Amino acid sequence: MLSVCSAESHENRAASGTPDFAPSEPARESPADARLFPAPMTAKRSTPERESKSPWGTSPWQIDFTIPSQPVPASVDFAIIGGGFTGLAAAAWLGHLAPGKSVAVFEALGIGSGASGRTGGMALAETAAGDLPGLGDVLGVFQQILAKLRIDCDLALPGAWEIGRSNGMQGSPIDWKDSGRLRVVKEVPGGTLDPAKLVAGLARAAVERDAFILEHQPVTGIEWKDRPVVEVGGAHCSAGKVLLATNALSLDLTNLAGHAEPKLTLAIATEPLSAVQLGAIGLAGGNPFYTVDLPYLWGRVRRNRSVIFGAGLVDAPRSRDLTKIDIGKGKAPELFARIERRIRSLHPALEKSKFTHRWGGPILFTENWQPVFMRHPRSENAIVLGAYAGHGVALSTYLGAWSAEVLLGRRKLPHWGALQD
Ligand SMILES: Cc1cc2nc3c(=O)[nH]c(=O)nc-3n(C[C@H](O)[C@H](O)[C@H](O)COP(=O)(O)OP(=O)(O)OC[C@H]3O[C@@H](n4cnc5c(N)ncnc54)[C@H](O)[C@@H]3O)c2cc1C
Repeated sequence: MLSVCSAESHENRAASGTPDFAPSEPARESPADARLFPAPMTAKRSTPERESKSPWGTSPWQIDFTIPSQPVPASVDFAIIGGGFTGLAAAAWLGHLAPGKSVAVFEALGIGSGASGRTGGMALAETAAGDLPGLGDVLGVFQQILAKLRIDCDLALPGAWEIGRSNGMQGSPIDWKDSGRLRVVKEVPGGTLDPAKLVAGLARAAVERDAFILEHQPVTGIEWKDRPVVEVGGAHCSAGKVLLATNALSLDLTNLAGHAEPKLTLAIATEPLSAVQLGAIGLAGGNPFYTVDLPYLWGRVRRNRSVIFGAGLVDAPRSRDLTKIDIGKGKAPELFARIERRIRSLHPALEKSKFTHRWGGPILFTENWQPVFMRHPRSENAIVLGAYAGHGVALSTYLGAWSAEVLLGRRKLPHWGALQD
């Protein structure tokens, strides 16, 4: 999803950078006995029911993975805060590259309960600000990472459609009514995946490589010593290096409060459509789409032929804390009603559409729409990664793996990842 910046940022894209990031082979550098905390003791099911009462609603994605449960370790080589695509990819890639190192992922709720389990699941190239110097081939390396970690997440890359109210292609497969005539303007690299399978696959890959994932363990503070100490409830975990991958939440921890804007973005899913309906609206080929002008609209077809559409941003009431938003209250219900009306009016084949899911998820915007990928101002031993501005499915996994290489001292941070003054 490119979000509202699309039209402008497309015009202003930097020249294409040479791909310079490719997955490295695992290093045989440390003995596997470096484990500093006990092996898993019990198992518990990591299921979407965990989020069924979420005030952000329930997405149609089903995360199916059993997380071994364990106590908070006293010390680890790498502590990762946040169990979305970014944090899980970093953990899995650390396990892949440095099998002897100890890795713990602290997740406040369940894995994927932030944007990653609530996303549209469009896999897109580049960033929300377009290509960036030295960024590399996001989609190409993303596929290599999936192959190395043996993750099947139903990735299909038929191309993504940029759609708009002017400059529509002759014979555009999409021809809808939405504040004008909405048609395909351009096809760009991209496609779709099942985000729940990506979350589960990354978590499985991390656990198989001996990382510990601790669910329902919100990090409440970090003591900024030479070796940072992560505070988790009443427990403490000293870490050689820390990755903060909390996206639009915990902005005081990441020091992004005041530097980036958190929003809840909304999505809905239709009940499964018939093949004839999908054909009539131009979506039979499975190409996801997003507008390059306003009003914004994005969407994709699921394997069961239900279509996810998204539009609309909600602020936290009187604060930056998105956990304060309840999508059943305030501005959100009217926004959902509005988007459902828009979808029913897009095309006669959608006139009688019924909707099965309404939900929201967190996204974080920087002023220039570039991701944040930088040292934490309080420590050389901590990295902050996120703020993909609604364009983070492939990118978060790609940069999560890149951050693992930075944590291991094998790769540098990109210049564009620092906050602009
Ligand atoms: C509705 C929606 C649709 C989207 N559609 C697309 C799309 O189609 N294509 C695309 O490219 N991008 C899309 N995005 C964006 C993309 O999903 C995100 O950029 C990506 O999932 C971010 O992953 P993440 O791991 O950085 O963050 P998250 O998945 O949000 O993970 C952060 C995690 O940190 C945890 N956390 C926060 N604070 C703490 C703490 N103190 N202690 C421990 N854990 C903590 C949270 O619980 C959360 O699980 C969409 C986003 C939304 C919300």
